[in-house]
Amino acid sequence: ANYSALLAENCKLHNEVQELKGNIRVYCRIRPFLRGQKEKQSVVEYIGENGELIIVNPSKQGKEGRRSFKFNKVYNPAATQDIQPLIQSVLDGYNVCIFAYGQTGSGKTYTMTGPDKATEENWGVNYRALNDIFRISQTRVNTFTYEITVQMMEIYNEQVRDLLSSDGSPRKYPFIYCMTISDLHITCIWVTVFLDLHTLGIVSAPQPNGLAVPEASMHTVNKTSDVLNLMDIGLRNRARGSTAMNERSSRSHSVVTIHVRGMDIKSGSSMRSSLHLVDLAGSERVDRSEVTGDRLKEAQHINKSLSALGDVIYALAQKNAHVPYRNSKLTQVLQISLGGQAKTLMFVHLNPEVGSHSENTSTLKFAERASGVELGAARSNK
Ligand code: ADP
Repeated sequence: ANYSALLAENCKLHNEVQELKGNIRVYCRIRPFLRGQKEKQSVVEYIGENGELIIVNPSKQGKEGRRSFKFNKVYNPAATQDIQPLIQSVLDGYNVCIFAYGQTGSGKTYTMTGPDKATEENWGVNYRALNDIFRISQTRVNTFTYEITVQMMEIYNEQVRDLLSSDGSPRKYPFIYCMTISDLHITCIWVTVFLDLHTLGIVSAPQPNGLAVPEASMHTVNKTSDVLNLMDIGLRNRARGSTAMNERSSRSHSVVTIHVRGMDIKSGSSMRSSLHLVDLAGSERVDRSEVTGDRLKEAQHINKSLSALGDVIYALAQKNAHVPYRNSKLTQVLQISLGGQAKTLMFVHLNPEVGSHSENTSTLKFAERASGVELGAARSNK
């Protein structure tokens, strides 16, 4: 009886995911006030499970200052994150991308990594996803064999770094950075020729095995704890890079990619899919008049890559013939998991504090644009 209940539940989840195919789903999370914060009047009101929320403009009175938005789901501030339906579809052969978007301090890392990996209910999306992949693949051992590999990267100032390179020090990609001077000359010539041919549409970017970043190290994993250990290494490597520049992690994108190769034991047919788990850099607008040098450069790179991501998702939602993947490293790395039959889930994060009203508004605008016509039509002013 338990087994059939489980099957029925899986079917329901499966149908839910089918609807998502080729679409972006937007889930919104409101960070609760933190312990010790005096302020208690939130500028974001959670309405309920129907996906609605209201943002309150503190400088306007009454109805004027209230605006409602509708999403696929709004989390109760105290809720944990459940993403199982999407994970099942990775094992069914779909590419899936899960993002966390929002200003620094809005809870992106809390959603993706979770506050405490020691207790399951405190796991973030990353650990839940991996645990689900292993759990679901175990239920299919008689019909499928799966090979699961992991890559972990950081994108900072339009450069991709491998966070799991074997010597423990994160390597930078493109691989041009690892070369000697004489190699570098040859590579520069080759890259120039390649870029020209590529621009002319004569050659396409090399993607052996369908990987967006084939140079980044791949690690085979057999159980959740293997992945947890790898992620620890990745997080340590990421932190190591930050010592030079404080809080760098909020100004880089972190991308965990899980590649799944499945083989049907009976028919011998195989499938490939991937899951991208992305903790984006903080989306806050930096006042150009106040920053210079490295800080300005970082801000420009973040701005560029987040707008490129917004443009790609918008083009996909509008079903445009041209999707501008090549405008940033981030969209190039994620290309296989965006568009086509891929399923995309974006967690947008809002802060409850009065001072966050304008950042919340721009986050919601990003979410609205990314989700295309659907959300715009559902929006109403109150
Ligand atoms: P970001 O990654 O967006 O910069 P963090 O995830 O680091 O933000 O969150 C900032 C702070 O808020 C952290 O102390 C985190 O523990 C806390 N926090 C974020 N979201 C929640 C939540 N849903 N419930 C409780 N605390 C949260």
